[in-house]
Amino acid sequence: MVQTHILGYPRIGAARELKKAQEAYWLGEIPQQQLLRVGAEIRRENWQAQSEAGLNFVTVGDFAWYDQVLNHSQMFGVLGQRFVEGAADNTLDQYFRQARGRAPSGQPVAANAMTKWFDTNYHYLVPEFSIDQEFSLDSTWLLDEVREAQSQGYAAKPVVIGPLTYLWLGRGVDNALELLPEILPCYTELFSQLAEQNVDWVQVDEPILGLDLPDEWRNAFDRAYQQIAHAGAGMKLLLATYFSPLRENLPLAFSLPVSGVHIDCVRAPEELQAAVELTDENRVLSAGVLNGRNVWRADLEKWQCILKPLAEQLGERLWLSASCSLLHSPVDLESEVSLPDDQKQKLAYSRQKLQELAQLQQLLCGESTAAGASVEGITQSRSIAERLQDSWRTQRYQERAAVQKKRWQLPLLPTTTIGSFPQTDLLRKVRRQFRSGEISASDYRGHLRAEIAEAIRRQEILGLDVLVHGEAERNDMVEYFGEQLEGFVHTGNGWVQSYGSRCVKPPIIFGDISRPKAMTVEWSSYAQSLTSKPVKGMLTGPVTILNWSFPREDIHRSESCLQIAQALHEEVLDLEAAGIGIIQIDEPALREGVPLRESEHEDYFAWAVACFRYTCSEVKAETQIHTHMCYSNFNAIMEAIVSLDADVITIESSRSDLRLLSAFADRNGDYPNEIGPGVYDIHSPNVPEREELVDRLKKIAEVVPVQRLWVNPDCGLKTRSWAEVGSSLLNMVEAARAVRTEL
Ligand code: GLN
Ligand code: ZN
Repeated sequence: MVQTHILGYPRIGAARELKKAQEAYWLGEIPQQQLLRVGAEIRRENWQAQSEAGLNFVTVGDFAWYDQVLNHSQMFGVLGQRFVEGAADNTLDQYFRQARGRAPSGQPVAANAMTKWFDTNYHYLVPEFSIDQEFSLDSTWLLDEVREAQSQGYAAKPVVIGPLTYLWLGRGVDNALELLPEILPCYTELFSQLAEQNVDWVQVDEPILGLDLPDEWRNAFDRAYQQIAHAGAGMKLLLATYFSPLRENLPLAFSLPVSGVHIDCVRAPEELQAAVELTDENRVLSAGVLNGRNVWRADLEKWQCILKPLAEQLGERLWLSASCSLLHSPVDLESEVSLPDDQKQKLAYSRQKLQELAQLQQLLCGESTAAGASVEGITQSRSIAERLQDSWRTQRYQERAAVQKKRWQLPLLPTTTIGSFPQTDLLRKVRRQFRSGEISASDYRGHLRAEIAEAIRRQEILGLDVLVHGEAERNDMVEYFGEQLEGFVHTGNGWVQSYGSRCVKPPIIFGDISRPKAMTVEWSSYAQSLTSKPVKGMLTGPVTILNWSFPREDIHRSESCLQIAQALHEEVLDLEAAGIGIIQIDEPALREGVPLRESEHEDYFAWAVACFRYTCSEVKAETQIHTHMCYSNFNAIMEAIVSLDADVITIESSRSDLRLLSAFADRNGDYPNEIGPGVYDIHSPNVPEREELVDRLKKIAEVVPVQRLWVNPDCGLKTRSWAEVGSSLLNMVEAARAVRTEL
């Protein structure tokens, strides 16, 4: 009989209990013991859920107080020197110092860097290696959790990040691969301890096998696994890969001395057959058939057809699983009280995916006439880029810029902001009251208008050149549009961990998307009516809305992107018709959707760029299109950014020592359109000094020609207070004026 297991389960708790306990602990509101109890309770519930669903193992080691990669840094004693000074009283606080720079005990310190986990919206803490890095098995947390699960009567399958993936994720040395001989003894020791603890299987995650790996990294796999595979006598290793096809690494994965391999059949259905052929009689194949990153019920009958012959061939050597850890799915659909039944029926969160695995196992055991079938991914019907090209703006940037200069008469180094202004406690309260029905729609609207009027008044006093309405009506840049558009469903409890205690609740693209009515015109026009300065319209771009939602699985994501682009296109034309002549279309998530394999980049960028450009097709040359992206490593996507052909792009740059600007300057010739490199970091409460800003602007002006240079903060200001925003922007405006006089 086929077996079932998962690669990992969400650790936030069904009602985000972990988040609440973490935050309360950090604020000193609850003692550490209480936090520990909440964590133990979540683990107990998670294992119980897996066991009740009838899975053959419970997965252990997927729990983390903050992040699973940091768990490994802690386990292997990877701790930068700066954390040794002012160390905390206990290990958990020390761990939180590494995660977030502060903890109830110990000195504040700069935290580990955080970055995206492969192509997900989860962020991990980057291991910091030093040249003379030593590793030691410092912590027993994994062993302790295995004992904890065993003492509750479960067959525990611990999960660890494999040595090559762990090293790959780190920074601080030129070639982390050189640290491999140093770290392997830790794995050997860990595995022998787990074997002593009567563990049968260990899941070793090596998702980097789905990347375009340099040869030296590929070649290191065999060496590494020869050394660690037999450390635990009688214990077996399941090598887990996910997020991407394995391609050239598929034979490699199956040639390693491991007892099983897990592959992601959602991202690479075409590799299932080849994987079966590579699975010899000493090995297990774990097929990740349920999508661990989405919320839809699986087509179990389809999988029954596909898997039936494989199940007959492999028997209990076929394991069924979700494609990747369920960390990336919400917890339990049962907690969705307000979704209508017909919608709920189509969905499966983590808890339901466990049941689906059990159902599929049943289906495969029973007699059935199901014949074999093959899986196919959904493909694009016709290249979206080709379809849309004809509709793009016809004038080139230079021609548009000439008309725009005439129309707007802006000074050199025009000053602006990225869109949002502080979301005050009062504003949040009013929004809550409106949502709960305590205040009427017209009262709410009146309040938003007052906020907008206040934002305009302040910007006029500050002397900014291009104003914004301040986004008081939005709580979230995707949710707001999702709520206005047809085709999205908003869940009450579809939370997914983004990092640490932070969770996001992506909307679900449930069907075809359309725009029943204008979404932002009222707010922008009202703001414009209050001032003679131009007010910039503010939209979230199609690629970002798509990438921050749960996508459909029945059509290619580019098709949904196009539908969103169509809706935004209508909005852009309505804004233009209402007299809003500068329109910003934010695309901070453009980079997020970039496929892990380079060979797929071209296709992604082709449709992503095409959709963006489609949103502003047909607009007049004199209408100025802005875009915004808030990150600092543009090198990999520079070509795509140039192709977006926005008249102005505002970007983050203040935290990266302006180094990133080189991406804009190093191309053959410079970035051709206008740029607003963020001149100060909005993530910090510090108010930048005027002189500091003058210096920075002058440095920027050495790289970007002043005719094409804008002056702005590096992102929206909604998380700041008005006091900080007022002083910072005043210094920014004065700095721009000071530099102008010297030009
Ligand atoms: N316009 C948005 C804002 O200012 C942009 C946010 C973002 O880039 N993440 O809040
Ligand atoms: Zn931003």
